[in-house]
Amino acid sequence: MSRRTYLECHIPLQGFDPDVLSGLLYLYGCMGILEAGEEWVVYFPEAFTPEHIQVLLGVLRRVNPDFHPEQCQVQKQPYRDWNAEWRKYFRPFQPVEGIWIRPPWERLPAGASGVELIIDPQMGFGTGHHESTRLMIQALKKYPPRDLKVLDVGTGSGILAILARKLGARQVIAVDIDRDALKNARENLVLNGVDGVELRNGSLQVVPERQFDRILANIHREVLLELLPGFMQRLQPEGWLIISGILKQDRDLVLPAYQQAGLHLIEELSANEWLALIWARQQIQGVQN
Ligand code: SAH
Repeated sequence: MSRRTYLECHIPLQGFDPDVLSGLLYLYGCMGILEAGEEWVVYFPEAFTPEHIQVLLGVLRRVNPDFHPEQCQVQKQPYRDWNAEWRKYFRPFQPVEGIWIRPPWERLPAGASGVELIIDPQMGFGTGHHESTRLMIQALKKYPPRDLKVLDVGTGSGILAILARKLGARQVIAVDIDRDALKNARENLVLNGVDGVELRNGSLQVVPERQFDRILANIHREVLLELLPGFMQRLQPEGWLIISGILKQDRDLVLPAYQQAGLHLIEELSANEWLALIWARQQIQGVQN
């Protein structure tokens, strides 16, 4: 029996858009949510510090003035295997037509065709169920990185790195600050029989200032703003930057910063409350907005 613990936090739902709330909680690293009537019980890894949770509660307060962080108590609880519970519900699916995702223990339906991604749901975010990942998959499918050099920032489960390779990327470097996520990404690379993806622990500082043709980043907006100068240093002159994890309500916080950095908006993709933005360093003729 595992002696691990996790942190449990009760969040009153009042005033929240549930899609926005769950998206923010997952982007900040929650492991699971139990919907319990007027409140949600949210679980975080034991490694989370109280400060980390306070930052998240502060963000929740900004999106919902009805929310009062001081009402939330954080308690340590014995570990519960969320993956074992949620594994039961993970069936093969197409986040985008022609891209299939399945867990290792399921088979694709007869007649399924297209690109197959095998994802073992562990600690790394990115099974393809969340809109922010789905939008990245949509962007990669629409603009396949054939023969290109790709940087995947915040790789999580490795899902985008694996897809980029399967869509013909020449080389992928994938980084994440979370070692558990990288372990999961490594397992997923093996499951998919994919080579040519180099995993590194850290953020942009572990990536040389080399010339990438595509940079992918599905991370929280604050991180997207913080990393922007580093993205620019690593993008080649004709390179594209594809970002996701942006709530529609935060569009005006992200867009001007990226424009001021000299990037040109190629396309904007959306699903429910979520946005992904495709940027190019150079003005491009003939790409439809
Ligand atoms: N790329 C996957 C996972 C996105 S979740 C997908 O699209 O589904 C975001 C990931 O970014 C998490 O795994 C988190 O650990 C990582 N992350 C957060 N801040 C980061 C930073 N500054 N540098 C690198 N990775 C970061």
